[in-house]
Amino acid sequence: MSDCNHDCSSCSANCSERKAESFQKPLNPYSSVKKVIAVVSGKGGVGKSLVTSLMAAEMQRRGHRCAVLDADITGPSIPKSFGIHEHATGTDAYLIPVSTYTGLQIMSINLILENETEPVVWRGPVIAGAVTQFWTDVLWKDVDYMFVDMPPGTGDVPLTVFQSLPVDGIIIVTTPQDLVSMIVSKAVRMAEMMNVPVLGVVENMSYYTCPDCGKQHEIFGASKVQDVAAAFDIPHTARIPIDPVITTMVDAGEIEHVNAEFLTELVDNLEKDLPLEET
Ligand code: ADP
Repeated sequence: MSDCNHDCSSCSANCSERKAESFQKPLNPYSSVKKVIAVVSGKGGVGKSLVTSLMAAEMQRRGHRCAVLDADITGPSIPKSFGIHEHATGTDAYLIPVSTYTGLQIMSINLILENETEPVVWRGPVIAGAVTQFWTDVLWKDVDYMFVDMPPGTGDVPLTVFQSLPVDGIIIVTTPQDLVSMIVSKAVRMAEMMNVPVLGVVENMSYYTCPDCGKQHEIFGASKVQDVAAAFDIPHTARIPIDPVITTMVDAGEIEHVNAEFLTELVDNLEKDLPLEET
């Protein structure tokens, strides 16, 4: 159109350059977040929170300022794995995230609830509203990479997160069994519909290394992550072993001390795919 002012909200023309209406919510004026990575899974218990926390901790170790927004409102496990039990504080203007031992900024419903063992029995729109407020009403101070621990599945809350937050890419977490089902294709399809690139797929519980002989056993069958990544054109993969040390350290709130070298290559690629602009 010759008289286009590039503001689709004030124009009714149905031209080829028309942009979809944006539902994105602004950060509060005191916050700054450069890149947002959403970590998704088809169902609970596959290690999504583990991968979210380990990637954030690794990025933080590399000198980036990182944050975790725990959007898994009904199954929040992020604070416990970082050994955080205190409450988030706030002012009239914003909520202040709790910082971990290495300075990662964390916001989770468990930091706000009176009693962290109380279940959250809320309807979908209320949960989605809480997640949106974690984006808009929290003081995210100079964050380079924010990792969002998404609720499992493709329901109301993941949809709200994709619409409300400027997600730069997603990481899909699965187990070997899930890789043969439709779970990955559903996650990929949702990302496509939301116009967000899938940056990688992580096969958790991929193998077990025998502590006595060092041999790798593929307990849940041969790895399929490479085939699945090729089939869906997903650029990066990672495989995480079943390791009782991980479980123990997560339970003890020491996730920042886990040796996560199995994620090194994936995090290298995230840095390359989502570079921070020079300021
Ligand atoms: P999700 O976020 O998908 O519900 P979590 O990350 O909370 O799953 O993981 C569920 C439990 O399984 C946690 O106690 C976690 O420490 C444990 N776990 C996940 N992956 C592994 C692994 N590869 N080795 C050992 N324990 C694991």
